[in-house]
Amino acid sequence: MNDLKDVAWELYDAESIIISGHVMPDGDSIGSTLGLGLALEKIGKKITFTSPHPIPEIYKFLPGAERIHHGLPDGVYDTFVVLDCSVPDRLGDEVVSLLDRDIKVINIDHHQVEKPFAHVSYIDSKAASTGEIIFDLLKNMRINLDVDIATNLYTAIVTDTGSFKYEGTAPGTHRKAAALLEYGVNGARISKMLFDEKPIEVFKVLENALPTLNVSECGKVAWINFDWEARQKTGAKDEHTEELVDYPRRIKGVEVALLFRELSPGVVKVSMRSNYYVDVSRVASEFGGGGHKRASGCVLKGDISEVQKQVISAALEAVKRRV
Ligand code: AMP
Ligand code: MN
Ligand code: MN
Repeated sequence: MNDLKDVAWELYDAESIIISGHVMPDGDSIGSTLGLGLALEKIGKKITFTSPHPIPEIYKFLPGAERIHHGLPDGVYDTFVVLDCSVPDRLGDEVVSLLDRDIKVINIDHHQVEKPFAHVSYIDSKAASTGEIIFDLLKNMRINLDVDIATNLYTAIVTDTGSFKYEGTAPGTHRKAAALLEYGVNGARISKMLFDEKPIEVFKVLENALPTLNVSECGKVAWINFDWEARQKTGAKDEHTEELVDYPRRIKGVEVALLFRELSPGVVKVSMRSNYYVDVSRVASEFGGGGHKRASGCVLKGDISEVQKQVISAALEAVKRRV
């Protein structure tokens, strides 16, 4: 594990930098990518932004979002910065190939990284978002922020803390958000766009998924499904299904909430959330995934009802053991 100064020196030395976040990008992944890249441009670096998957509609308001490529753009880079992504798998088939090039790889993240894959890694699992680490890094590098950079970093923080509601939200999280607001970020507008307004597809998804909401006999594990048939019927994209896991999570008495989404026939993405005591990153790692204590995920192959049986039973076991 390196410290932020090491990352800073590597970035000072770099000339042509490509930056990527993870598959199915969220506000932290995209906001951190753009915030860091726009700031490094201010000190003369040549920056290419990419993302393994396209940018969801709701994040297209972010300054610079139109510059993010999808997949692996042609070009020669001396440095590859991987943000908010703890495993090479989550870079997607194309972007991951950058790890095979003879270039410097820097990983900045707040997930627990099991096997470091970069030359320089800065991992702070106490940070509620990667955006906060980027904020500290830019301070460290003495790069002056502006409203565009601040809007990206504020969005990273506000999305990964669920609007400052999640457990990882620390006094420092609020202080950084406050400092970003001083640059003229329109916090109210961002919150309205991210948490209040929803495209109609989200309601169609809900109409199809809510009938599958189910709670275990003990009342502590609940789940909801969105299978391939429902996906085709509604024409929904991944971004329209992200919040489904909040419905089982919000049932009083439930400790572990699960969302089973069929990404393609026979490929099931499981999102896991816990409310108080179960470490769902451990449950996800039993199935080759990972994440945080209160939010984790994994992707499994097989029939959705088979996958469900296995994962629900692991969740019940974790609840019983209270770990
Ligand atoms: P999600 O359910 O996709 O919102 O993911 C919740 C958290 O778990 C995020 O912080 C992800 O980084 C992490 N996560 C999700 N899927 C995986 C996976 N397949 N492998 C490792 N971590 C994951
Ligand atoms: Mn993320
Ligand atoms: Mn994150």
